[in-house]
Amino acid sequence: MIVCSAISKTYLSIYPALDGTLWDSVAGGMGSPLPDTKSYFTHLECSATGETYPAGQPHNLSQAGKPLLARYDLAALKGGLDQRDLASRPQDLWRYREFLPVASAGNRLTLGEIRTPLLPLNRWKGGGRVLVKDESRLPTGSFKARGLCLAVSMAKELGIRRIAMPTNGNAGAALAAYASLAGIESYVFCPEDTPEVNVREIALQGARVWKVNGYIHHCGQLVAEGKEAMGWFDFSTLKEPYRIEGKKTMGLELAEQLGWDVPDVIFYPTGGGTGLIGMWKAFHELEAVGWLGKKRPRMMAVQASGCAPIVRAFELGAPFAEEWMEASTVASGIRVPKAVGDFLILQAVRESGGAAMAVPDEAILETQREIAHQEGLLLGPEGAATAAAYAEALRTDLVSGEETAVLFNCGTPLKYPMPPATATLDRHAPFDATVFED
Ligand SMILES: *Cc1c(COP(=O)(O)O)cnc(C)c1O
Repeated sequence: MIVCSAISKTYLSIYPALDGTLWDSVAGGMGSPLPDTKSYFTHLECSATGETYPAGQPHNLSQAGKPLLARYDLAALKGGLDQRDLASRPQDLWRYREFLPVASAGNRLTLGEIRTPLLPLNRWKGGGRVLVKDESRLPTGSFKARGLCLAVSMAKELGIRRIAMPTNGNAGAALAAYASLAGIESYVFCPEDTPEVNVREIALQGARVWKVNGYIHHCGQLVAEGKEAMGWFDFSTLKEPYRIEGKKTMGLELAEQLGWDVPDVIFYPTGGGTGLIGMWKAFHELEAVGWLGKKRPRMMAVQASGCAPIVRAFELGAPFAEEWMEASTVASGIRVPKAVGDFLILQAVRESGGAAMAVPDEAILETQREIAHQEGLLLGPEGAATAAAYAEALRTDLVSGEETAVLFNCGTPLKYPMPPATATLDRHAPFDATVFED
């Protein structure tokens, strides 16, 4: 705040036209106080047993060892907020603050979580009705920013000083960024084959980061073992209740972008499943306040063939998913061999009439190339996996070309290795135009 007002004074003396009001609106995204609004958050509920837990104190999993879900007084929210109230607000994540748990405006962190675009694919697959929700444009280059923006804001509100997390990369980067913004210490554990760019990004954003010789759930075990001695609050996926609330804003935002409607089908790259569970929750809450009807999109959980525990459980008709051994895929964001929220993912997929689909790495990379060449849109491997699954679903009539499908591109491709481009030219050699023909 001190830094902010100091900048504000210099800035205002250089640009007298930028008066207080304008500054407030410009700096709204830089930590200046947002208007205080009523939070309708009432309590937490165990996603398996329905047992309730009070708001206002830190929680991890329920007594039953299952994720906790935030609950709201939706009847009061319905009376207290009108869709038209949103019109004058910035197009960001906090425009939905009544649907979110943070009570005090001063605890709402922001690094500029924009409304992400919905881009139509015009040529690929004959230009059906396919929209890409491009989440790669969020802070730290992935939609993990939505989840961690909320979770760290709540940590701030609850007075948590030290956070620890296992990550495949993107969640750690988002944690590091928001924790640094909030002045909270962060400790991050990555599988040793996490791309170097992720590890360095996490370190440079201010977290303490270690590479561990194991998978993400082995990293999670280290967090569990160290938390007592180190006073860490465990931020593993779904082991704290508020990342889901941040991811829920994808569902709120998507419905608003479609004129308070939902698409016919959503293809979601599924690792821990936070986003799929969050969106499903969003649609229920929107229906409860009368902003959506009964229609739900079919939820398609997309995984890589080299790590597809949810797909296997879906096909077996099982309520939970067994751990996937020897997990391997280029789409590291969805390389999650065992998810605590497996049953919530499976429930949402089944209730929606959707499916779980696995696509091989070759199809992911080929689809990534096709869409980049035909549409100018370079997807991350996880986003490309949803497109490959869409193509497969078209072929097998799981979805028709007339239906509106939304694909989620959840992270920037620029943090992944890309195919080499090796052509060189010698500027001293005689010009030879034949090298440009092919
Ligand atoms: C984390 C991640 C996913 C998976 O998200 P979940 O909601 O945890 O299933 C997909 N894509 C990218 C790029 C990610 O970073």
